[in-house]
Amino acid sequence: MTVALVSMLRAIALSSVVSLAMAKSACAETITKNVVIIGGGASGAHAAVRLREDFDKSVIVIEKKSHLGGHVATYTDTSGKTYEYGVQSYLEVGEAVDFFARFNITVGVPARIPLTSVYADFSTGQNISDYVAPLAADRSAALRRFLAAAEPYESMLLPGYWDFPAPEDIPEDLLLPFGEFAQKYDLLAAMPQMFQVPGPGVPDWVDAPTLHVMQVFGAPMARALTGAAPTFTPTGEDNSELYRRITALLGEDVLFSSTVTKAERNGDGVKLTVTGADGKKTKIVGDRLLISFEPTPDAMAPFDLDEAESAVFEKFTHSKVFAGIVKHPSLPANISIVNTVPTAAPDNYLSFPEAPILARFDYMGAPSDLFRVLIVGDDTLDVDGAQKLVRDSLSALLEAGTIADGDIDDLVFAAFVDHGPMHLRAGLEDIKGGFIQEQYALQGHRSTWYTGAAWSVQFTTLLWAYNDVLLPKLLESL
Ligand SMILES: Cc1cc2nc3c(=O)[nH]c(=O)nc-3n(C[C@H](O)[C@H](O)[C@H](O)COP(=O)(O)OP(=O)(O)OC[C@H]3O[C@@H](n4cnc5c(N)ncnc54)[C@H](O)[C@@H]3O)c2cc1C
Repeated sequence: MTVALVSMLRAIALSSVVSLAMAKSACAETITKNVVIIGGGASGAHAAVRLREDFDKSVIVIEKKSHLGGHVATYTDTSGKTYEYGVQSYLEVGEAVDFFARFNITVGVPARIPLTSVYADFSTGQNISDYVAPLAADRSAALRRFLAAAEPYESMLLPGYWDFPAPEDIPEDLLLPFGEFAQKYDLLAAMPQMFQVPGPGVPDWVDAPTLHVMQVFGAPMARALTGAAPTFTPTGEDNSELYRRITALLGEDVLFSSTVTKAERNGDGVKLTVTGADGKKTKIVGDRLLISFEPTPDAMAPFDLDEAESAVFEKFTHSKVFAGIVKHPSLPANISIVNTVPTAAPDNYLSFPEAPILARFDYMGAPSDLFRVLIVGDDTLDVDGAQKLVRDSLSALLEAGTIADGDIDDLVFAAFVDHGPMHLRAGLEDIKGGFIQEQYALQGHRSTWYTGAAWSVQFTTLLWAYNDVLLPKLLESL
């Protein structure tokens, strides 16, 4: 054999090794799982744990951020103290406490700092000193009336809309503008407190259908606020600890900083292309897809929607929510400054600021004397706009003398997060036309299932209870 022939054979052998290696690495880029879960927030992370650990199914979570946990946001100051500026506490429903226990996280009654409220118009900075908040006893009595009025409809909404009535059977109460519902059941004294929970998320909530308000503030929340049902928080660690432990448990079954860029879905399963922040592409093949993020038309665009799917997602409108922690020497300790319109004074509990809105500055405690801010607007609001609203509101409060004199340039944003689209909802006419049934008809369609707030309500543990009903249905379809 000549030297030339030997080197040619070596070259061929080497190139086969290289092709084999390339083929192997191409194969390594394909991940095959029973269930592909998109989004690792409250509902996606919970579903991943339950499917893998309790139902013995292989899963992969595709999460667009670099961490799990969705709306949980914990800030640690220089002293090491932690402050929650996203999710605060949990409603004790279903297996919620056990879910924390399986991660060795103990829970207890939430500790709250008692705050004194100051009412001010954030557009002018004026103190609305003639505003009279409802007495605590009147507020509690009104919340109990809300609970009694909401309970008959609870099973239509929780743990999901599986049993939501057909269009002709939707109770009139659920379609009433919430202001009318509140007057009908004598709930006005509860309105200011209720506004602090769902109101900012439901634009023009006094005129919005009662159904929309109950989707974010239903019977369970009223039970919690009247002391009829417990709430809890983790005691040992901060709220992010649960998701750190889920991350450790799931290990390589989570792809962080990744989104789906292409999808093929049919009745037999799904094939996805997932792209990481570094541009790396991974092929994922799954028997079933579980979407857990808020399904706005933009977010759903890579999923190659068919007509039925587009018809549903295009009907949704949504709010955008931002939360942050600010510090300024003029913001007073132990105070909550509540954004209040002058027309609310002295006791018009149907008059509220309109979105975009900074709801309040809430003192978070020593030693850092930080304040929590929550901002809600429509789809056009971005981080700059949300921060400008905080700055403009504080400026107005300073100029009006509602808070001690100071320089607006001393405002510091210690933390700020864009929670993205929330509170997806269809209009009244669409609901009357059977929207909820059309939405739920998508469960299982083209091997795709849906969890998350758009399919139930905006509370973590209620979504876990929703998963407990959804996952067996998904598994049955396998
Ligand atoms: C400021 C604030 C405070 C709250 N306080 C409480 C509280 O005290 N108690 C309570 O029970 N509830 C609270 N909630 C509500 C609660 O957080 C939500 O109901 C719950 O998180 C909704 O869960 P989810 O799984 O639907 O969405 P999320 O928890 O938001 O999870 C969605 C996940 O999907 C990811 N994602 C989004 N798009 C994509 C994509 N295209 N590809 C991949 N991943 C994607 C997101 O990054 C996120 O991790 C609060 C919400 C906010 C904003």
